[in-house]
Amino acid sequence: MPTPEADGVPGRRSSRFPVVDPATGETFDEAPDQQPAELDEVVARARRAWGGWRADQAARTSALLAAADAVDAAGDDLARLLTREQGKPLAESYAEVARTTARLRYFAELAPRTRRIDDGRPVRSEIRWRSLGPVAAIVPWNFPLQLAAAKFAPALAAGNTMVLKPSPFTPLATRLLGSLLATALPEDVLTVVTGREPLGARLAAHPGIRHVTFTGSVPTGRAVAGAAAASLARVTLELGGNDAAVLLDDVDVDGIADRLFWAAFRNCGQVCMAVKRVYVPARLHGEVVEALARRAKAVTVGPGLDPGTRLGPVNNAPQLARVEQITEQALAHGARAASGGHRLDGPGYFFAPTILTDVPPGSPVVTGEQFGPVLPVVPYGTLDEAVDAANGTGFGLGGSVWGTDLDRAEAVADRLECGTAWINHHAELSLHQPFAGVKDSGVGVAGGPWGLYGNLRPFVVHRPEEG
Ligand code: NAD
Repeated sequence: MPTPEADGVPGRRSSRFPVVDPATGETFDEAPDQQPAELDEVVARARRAWGGWRADQAARTSALLAAADAVDAAGDDLARLLTREQGKPLAESYAEVARTTARLRYFAELAPRTRRIDDGRPVRSEIRWRSLGPVAAIVPWNFPLQLAAAKFAPALAAGNTMVLKPSPFTPLATRLLGSLLATALPEDVLTVVTGREPLGARLAAHPGIRHVTFTGSVPTGRAVAGAAAASLARVTLELGGNDAAVLLDDVDVDGIADRLFWAAFRNCGQVCMAVKRVYVPARLHGEVVEALARRAKAVTVGPGLDPGTRLGPVNNAPQLARVEQITEQALAHGARAASGGHRLDGPGYFFAPTILTDVPPGSPVVTGEQFGPVLPVVPYGTLDEAVDAANGTGFGLGGSVWGTDLDRAEAVADRLECGTAWINHHAELSLHQPFAGVKDSGVGVAGGPWGLYGNLRPFVVHRPEEG
């Protein structure tokens, strides 16, 4: 039975829900199961905090820098808790904490620019930038801390206040992060709420929220856009991907195989911008499958807290079931597993790293988002066929082209319908760049100065010139 406990909003009592360690499949802790009714008070407090927070840019910069220091100081605790609830190897959790503080520091120092319009008229027109109010962030379970930071760092730097809801699969590290940030930020500037649905749906629909920034799957993104439409809140959606890697006929297979493998399998394939399908010239197909399968068989799979682990478990039972189902379906229709293809025996949500070949056309493991440690390798005849196939899904997050002639590779990359394209790399992002998916992969722009302006509205003042 859930135990009632005072939490979140003073005076309210929440029950709790279990949090499972994916390395064991066992519950190891609980988090407050906050109810939608609590959101009215949370949002009202965020609105009250907005008045002071938006007023002083310099104070915001200092507070956000101090917040980054507070997070750094607790890096060990945060990283261990993240691995415990998310499953990723500890070294990756440390890297995620580092990316979280890097985002805070980057946006802390970024301010919008006031601009004058000079169009020859005797009018002085000035574009200033204003914050929006309380905003809502809803994030998934694959990178709970850094994806939250990608939202709260620009939103708070812009002068907004925020209500942040992590996934119920990974609420604990975000709660700890929230309490660390609270040591440096004024009260109610950032509030973490945890709970199961319909908490997220009600947060997205809340009339006091002026911007809903969401990262997650395409179907949930559609639901969030619909919910926010009621109050006409701004919506930023960073959604699923099905990134293709197109290998060219001059590719150095041995030279790129490690990078390509980890571009697909990092975080157990649970990366929006993971390589989720590989297109290879027919002549090189066997060699590429062999190079990837060798790595898949050799990689150490285990609990993220074990020092030797390179690949942890899938994060949660429903996701493991999905990965298993999408793989079995391909195998049942003629695909072959050059490695893996099945769950691993024993406790926890482990799935053997899987390289699939002979995947039938139209198979969901190629056309959809597997979001797990499974990679189809598909042969192609002409380059046009490869580009058409790469562009032939509803997704458009990222893509990559791999070859020795960089000019030729870049010309192919230019034909990919996505937000970011890499050559001989994948999913390497800079804090300074815009991040935006096309087609079903997203709406709006995050990252870099674009991320800051995405949290602001223009305010234009016209006045006649003196004299
Ligand atoms: P999800 O869509 O199931 O859940 C995302 C978040 O939305 C969670 O916090 C969840 O509790 C909440 N939620 C669920 N139903 C809701 C509703 N009706 N209204 C409002 N919120 C609701 O996604 P997931 O399974 O947690 O994450 C995996 C997905 O996220 C993948 O599709 C992945 O590609 C995508 N993703 C995208 C990016 C990106 O930047 N484009 C980054 C990481 C993950």
